Amino acid sequence: MVDMQREEWLSTLLSELPDRHLLIDKNGLIIESFGHIPLSTALSDNPTINTLLPPSLAEQLMQHALHALASGELKQFRYSISPCQQLQLSIEELESLSNTEERWFESTLKPLTRTNNAPYILWQEKDITEAYLHEAELKRLSETDELTGILNRRAFLLALENEMKQSQKQNVACLMIDIDHFKEINDRVGHLSGDEVITQVAHICQQSIRSNDYIGRLGGEEFGIVLPNTSAIEAYSTAEAIRTSIESTPCTVDGHTIYPTVSIGLAELNPTVTSVRELLVQADKAMYYSKQTGRNQVTIYYDNLPTIKIDSPLNANILQAS
Ligand code: GH3
Ligand code: MG
Ligand code: MG
Repeated sequence: MVDMQREEWLSTLLSELPDRHLLIDKNGLIIESFGHIPLSTALSDNPTINTLLPPSLAEQLMQHALHALASGELKQFRYSISPCQQLQLSIEELESLSNTEERWFESTLKPLTRTNNAPYILWQEKDITEAYLHEAELKRLSETDELTGILNRRAFLLALENEMKQSQKQNVACLMIDIDHFKEINDRVGHLSGDEVITQVAHICQQSIRSNDYIGRLGGEEFGIVLPNTSAIEAYSTAEAIRTSIESTPCTVDGHTIYPTVSIGLAELNPTVTSVRELLVQADKAMYYSKQTGRNQVTIYYDNLPTIKIDSPLNANILQAS
């Protein structure tokens, strides 16, 4: 190919690139732009990245770009932009947009080392909305219990582990909840209707907790709840609210009216608890104490106290470590 032809060919290639490519300098000035640029992206005189991105994103992009330049390494980051934040679009173009959902983008910043002494960065911006939403849906499905819609066991344990790491071992409470005499409920209404009872109990639990608490299905008719920034006393109130709410909400399935009840164990994170497992074992022991001493009640696990059932001011059972 002769030089002229080659130049034309390269120029066509660059303009046909499917994603937006921009050459920027260390001040965020846009030197060149190639490839797919949506709608009227006629850039103003001396355009900067602020012409294309909202201020906070432009700042983030610049930080990544300078980092890429300093380290000589490629940087990537993801972000979302709503149509009204797409600064390069005119009002008419915004109004004509059929899709008003936010779009997700992935920017790749590559420092260019062969441009003499001028430190330029090649910025590639790729619309990854479809892939991002697909990925988010897969993640949601992998974390969700199919029957009840709450977290599955794996996701719940992960959430608890993260909470334990962040909380520096204080003010996290964990509830273990098990439906009472569930075998009898299954025997009475059948396994499928039993599933509906499990779902109703899960939803009552979910409605009784705050948005930053976590609830998961640990197995059959057993649930766990993590209450961050919560003392044992506060968690006891929540556990009692759950218990009474379940007790007073009849469940009608397949012509049968069921009055489910639950037994609850409560354990509080403290410096002696070293693992998720240990906390769950404590909550489980407290829950079994609730079962053994009559069901439909809440027990707080408490270390180093005598094994006696006493009426505390909150009327909770106190269980010694065994
Ligand atoms: P307890 O009061 O001691 O908890 O008695 P229980 O009958 O509830 O006993 P347990 O908790 O040990 O048994 C739970 C039963 O739940 C055993 C199993 O048949 C049933 N089960 C487990 N998973 C499911 C499920 O997904 N759906 C339904 N319908 N039943 C389940
Ligand atoms: Mg049970
Ligand atoms: Mg059980």
